[in-house]
Amino acid sequence: MSANPHFQRVALIGFGLIGGSIARAAKLQGLASEIVTTARSEKTRARVTELGIVDQVVATNAEAVKDADLIILCIPVGACGPVAQEIAPHLKPGAVISDVGSVKGAVVRDMAPHLPQGVHFVPAHPVAGTEHSGPDSGFAELFINRWCILTPPEGTDADAVAHLRAFWAAMGAKVEVMTPDHHDLVLAITSHLPHLIAYTIVGTADELAQVTESEVIKFSAGGFRDFTRIAASDPTMWRDVFLANKEAVLEMLGTFTEDLAKLTRAIRRGDGDALFDHFTRTRAIRRGIVEIGQDSAAADFGRPHAALKKP
Ligand code: NAP
Repeated sequence: MSANPHFQRVALIGFGLIGGSIARAAKLQGLASEIVTTARSEKTRARVTELGIVDQVVATNAEAVKDADLIILCIPVGACGPVAQEIAPHLKPGAVISDVGSVKGAVVRDMAPHLPQGVHFVPAHPVAGTEHSGPDSGFAELFINRWCILTPPEGTDADAVAHLRAFWAAMGAKVEVMTPDHHDLVLAITSHLPHLIAYTIVGTADELAQVTESEVIKFSAGGFRDFTRIAASDPTMWRDVFLANKEAVLEMLGTFTEDLAKLTRAIRRGDGDALFDHFTRTRAIRRGIVEIGQDSAAADFGRPHAALKKP
């Protein structure tokens, strides 16, 4: 029998893209009797009150977690340790405490030492997002058909893990459990490195002297604009991701650099076969992603194209 996804009182610390999407999805699916939230700034708290999605907006983290059965930290990875320390004395025995950070090893290392006996720590990472941030950016459908990875420390209460798994599944996510280290290695190649490459290429284009900025923008449909979406992601979040997942990112970056050198050599030597073979292999990976429903099969990511009018 699958676990009940419902929690009595859910506290969301941080209300941006991810916190706001959890609030919207959990409300829509009736996953909490009460959702209480807080954010660091008065401005965000005021906006969350205005949006009217949650039951209660409070000024402090301590107030938010009081009597909560599920607490989810929806804040940058680097802030998780200090916030865990702050809320620890106010946590209800038996509560499930989780997060949504894009790096897991550092979050476990920073949070776990502060958490009291009797609360269940089940770190999580929904592998879903957009380049937008802030309280207005969330939407209830964000997690549908996306993976949410749970990384409970060894010995974590199985019922607590099952309860959180059911909560995420009820928001539409597919849930997998793995160790924090394995998570960080996998995400280094599937998410962190692609972001680093996008940040690099957009920065490089910006600094090119021979091509004017207006030309970069004008001819961006040649491929560049798809990198700009990723490179528009939140600077605080991504600074924290690279600082927190340093080892795995450097390992993947080493492999990437070797592969880039191979392609550079193929171009220099005019080795068309090597280039063709490589591009054939990568095209198959794109097909695989579409086949398992992780992206649309529509050309150009399904962007609308203007119709030609008959003269
Ligand atoms: P976001 O839209 O920028 O929202 C961040 C929230 O955290 C805001 O409510 C902000 O409060 C609060 N906050 C920022 N710095 C803080 C600090 N030092 N202490 C306490 N609260 C702080 O960010 P997000 O995209 O939802 O990301 C939140 C977490 O989700 C990150 O750990 C990220 O790694 C993870 N994640 C993101 C994505 C994605 O695509 N964006 C995907 C999966 C997981 P104020 O508004 O008051 O400043």
